[in-house]
Amino acid sequence: MVSFEEALAIVLAEAPALPGEEVALEDALSRVLAEDVLSDTDLPPFDRAAMDGYALRADDVAGAPVALDVIGEVRAGQWPDLAVGPGQAARIMTGAPVPPGADAVQQVERTQPLDEFRVTILAPVAPGANVAPRASEVRKGDVVLARGRVVDPAAIAVLAAAGKARARVSRRPVVAILVTGDEIVDVAAVPGPGQIRNSNGPSVAAQARLAGADVRLLGVAPDRQEALEAALRPGLAADALVVSGGVSAGDYDLVEPALLDLGARFLFTKVAIKPGAPLVFGRLGETLVFGLPGNPVSAQVTFDLFVRPALLKMQGARVLERPRVSVELREGVKNRSGRKSHLPARVAFDAGRLVARPVRSMGSGDLAAHARANALVVIEADRPQARAGETAEAVLLGNFLEDDGAPL
Ligand code: AMP
Ligand code: MG
Repeated sequence: MVSFEEALAIVLAEAPALPGEEVALEDALSRVLAEDVLSDTDLPPFDRAAMDGYALRADDVAGAPVALDVIGEVRAGQWPDLAVGPGQAARIMTGAPVPPGADAVQQVERTQPLDEFRVTILAPVAPGANVAPRASEVRKGDVVLARGRVVDPAAIAVLAAAGKARARVSRRPVVAILVTGDEIVDVAAVPGPGQIRNSNGPSVAAQARLAGADVRLLGVAPDRQEALEAALRPGLAADALVVSGGVSAGDYDLVEPALLDLGARFLFTKVAIKPGAPLVFGRLGETLVFGLPGNPVSAQVTFDLFVRPALLKMQGARVLERPRVSVELREGVKNRSGRKSHLPARVAFDAGRLVARPVRSMGSGDLAAHARANALVVIEADRPQARAGETAEAVLLGNFLEDDGAPL
């Protein structure tokens, strides 16, 4: 039995770096950058008006109100063919280059046209006001996004502005998923006596996709070793093979013998955590093999804690783990397992502090309770209980930011 920390370190040490590939900008969302991105241009590329108004010389309007001669107009997308001299102003639009001679823009709301060729500037402006100077945000050649960054919409904007119609990202890890269990039937089926629907296949696939994987579903295998081996074989071409169920201590938990028979080398077969203790990890050739416990909450939690970081590591992501925060418990929790516990909980802000309330759960089979959680409260192995008002660590789950933040 290894500790949580040992198990995670073992998994991450085994996760190989995948090669990069070029994708079109519109396909880069959620991928991990495999290169530092340099801007091919200054941003802004020219001294740019930040307001609609008049480009002028700040000195001229120090004693405003002051009337200036209007010598023309500069629109966005035009290069100015005029220069602003003393006592002069040019009408200018947001996004237009500030013409030579001008050092500030007064916004149109603080001006009053006298006629077509004269304007009253109603208030003074400081030199540089409402002008975004060339290269003040980014200089040509600057690293604007670092390798290992997960591409989000803000990064998409930066890539676009930096001229990256194509971006170099890490290849998606191919993840094969095999579900096991004689009792498991397809989602579309009406379960017969003793049967339950396959929820792990879809949930594990969803978690893998959110972690950037290219998922291959291997179906559902019965609890017979030969059938398991046959079903596992196509997964050996994947970067990671994730198996659900069949790794506990029961007579029909045959995933380990089946994997061994195929040549797997296990690096651990039990972790001191709750839920998820039967988690199995090893290698089969180049393929990382994860045997997740079949209980739906155990499967989801162990995926999040171990498989997700491995998939992100393969893609070269800078951040591998979910954020961990300090929370105040609103309700006490018990941990008699003697193992490090991850309890489903809801975390919310209350008067500027993060507070947590455990979700009422029937245990590691209670997938409905897990779906009400947005975090996992972590209780260390040597802490048999934590009381209301005490502080604990919480792992924020992927849905945390989409939570409505309603009071607990
Ligand atoms: P196992 O790890 O195979 O002993 O399964 C533990 C529990 O999880 C049992 O109650 C199984 O019926 C349940 N289980 C196993 N696989 C799945 C699955 N794919 N979807 C939903 N529940 C499952
Ligand atoms: Mg089973």
